[in-house]
Amino acid sequence: MDKRIATYGKFDIMFKNASTFDPSKPQFFDNIKSDLEHFFAINVPGAFLGMKHAARVMVPAGAYAMVVLVQPHMLTLPQRMLLGLTKNQAIELRQCGILSQFSFVIINIYNLLEFHPTQFISVKMASTDLLATATTRRLEGKVALITGGASGIGEHSARIFVQHGAKVVIADIQDELGHIVVEALGKSNSIYVHCDVSNEDHVKDAVDKAISTYGKLDIMYNNAGIIDPGKPRILDNLKSDFERVFAVNVIGGFLGMKHAARVMVPAKSGCIISTCSLCSERAGQASHAYTASKHAILGLTKNMAVELGQFGIRVNCLSPSGVATPFGKNTLGVEKDEEFEAFLNSFANLKGVTLRTEDVANAALYLASDEAKYISGQNLFIDGALGNVCSPLKMV
Ligand code: NAD
Repeated sequence: MDKRIATYGKFDIMFKNASTFDPSKPQFFDNIKSDLEHFFAINVPGAFLGMKHAARVMVPAGAYAMVVLVQPHMLTLPQRMLLGLTKNQAIELRQCGILSQFSFVIINIYNLLEFHPTQFISVKMASTDLLATATTRRLEGKVALITGGASGIGEHSARIFVQHGAKVVIADIQDELGHIVVEALGKSNSIYVHCDVSNEDHVKDAVDKAISTYGKLDIMYNNAGIIDPGKPRILDNLKSDFERVFAVNVIGGFLGMKHAARVMVPAKSGCIISTCSLCSERAGQASHAYTASKHAILGLTKNMAVELGQFGIRVNCLSPSGVATPFGKNTLGVEKDEEFEAFLNSFANLKGVTLRTEDVANAALYLASDEAKYISGQNLFIDGALGNVCSPLKMV
């Protein structure tokens, strides 16, 4: 590392890749202690030393990223240790103000059992405009349908998708806003369809409209979502609220996946993304109905990824923590973006950055693009590692 600094003056990205295998011995009692020790020495202390000395030079420099490549035996002891080490480091290093944009990504390239980027994936990405000009257009020629595309995360995703060359169908129930978004994106790039995602005919029609207008559907982004009024005690919760949240968040997601699959299976390609939430795997941070609904979408995502893999279709979801959108602000009962962000930042694990719609949109762009061509069945956290901490943020 000191050599890199001496040569290039700085050091931005640490990619921990070196590792070794012990000779495979199916019978446990045939395994030799020395093989195990050698395996551990390279894979775990090796990574530890890499992280330690990278941190030594990155912390003062406010550097960017550590990437840990976790290899096939993900569930074996050393790889589990590596995973634990990476998560712990993500939490420790966020404290250095200057390291606010520090990121840890754990990638299991080979078997894709786990893919948990534990920071705002895009914090160090350039602005949307820069991205589109500085890199190739990552969705050139693709067609996307985005539910809940008239506002917030969906709207920002539509903008980024179009900047990257996609044609976009905005599906929402807020017609006026939806038309404004289409005006802004350009009518040659986008259309609006009124679509209540809990209504099967609407979802079917929206998918058919994508086909009749643009000839195909490459990306289905199930993003529309709602939440019920937070009532901490289940005894106060109403069945009707529960059903309403499920109708949009779960049935809506199910219908989006079903009708996307209807046109993607014959095409033998496609990509389905859903906006989940930190609540897809964590409890106590939102209402019972919302938490259950996001857990359900994660389950559906995984099952669909298994079913649709044979047709070359990828299915993933995104799990942001808090973003200042109309949904987010209503949930907290605040009016101003700054108020929402100040509250969320006070609980955030990753300091010095604020999660915004563009960060979620950039993660969606990644999952939708061919750069993620082997990523399926994953829940991509965009939470600055908040999900790894015992969060004091408690809504119920
Ligand atoms: P938002 O309010 O800006 O956007 C939600 C959109 O969904 C709106 O345009 C709304 O009209 C649309 N919608 C609601 N019900 C619909 C229905 N039945 N049919 C079609 N469209 C419908 O909020 P957002 O934060 O951008 O929310 C997008 C997704 O992100 C949701 O699934 C939400 O659960 C999820 N999410 C949000 C946050 C956050 O803090 N904002 C955090 C985690 C997850």
